[in-house]
Amino acid sequence: MRVNVYAEEMTARIQIICKVIDGQVFTGVRFYLGFPFVHRKGDDDSSAVTFWGKKDLRCQLKKALKLLDRHYSKKPRPGTCRFCGCQEFTPCLSLPGAIPCGWADKKRTICTRCAVAKRS
Ligand SMILES: [Zn+2]
Ligand SMILES: [Zn+2]
Repeated sequence: MRVNVYAEEMTARIQIICKVIDGQVFTGVRFYLGFPFVHRKGDDDSSAVTFWGKKDLRCQLKKALKLLDRHYSKKPRPGTCRFCGCQEFTPCLSLPGAIPCGWADKKRTICTRCAVAKRS
């Protein structure tokens, strides 16, 4: 399963959700998408994506932020894929029989494997 949420759908409405099932507390982070959709007071059917996790969800979110920070602070270097770091002599897909990646852009900063992954 893959869930794609587009930049246009993201909102600043983020909520912590808690549920108690069989005496166990489950906590999630809910990201609301697009416009609010409220039938009547107390019946909010707005689109949202909820990530349920234990305390380690914090670690995963922190890691995501760290990766984003690193990604935005990195200057693309010609000859190195800015997503996976592969280079001309160390291409990805080095499995026997697999076609090694090539460059997807003129500046040689995105390899063909990552370019395909970005599109899907
Ligand atoms: Zn790559
Ligand atoms: Zn590659």
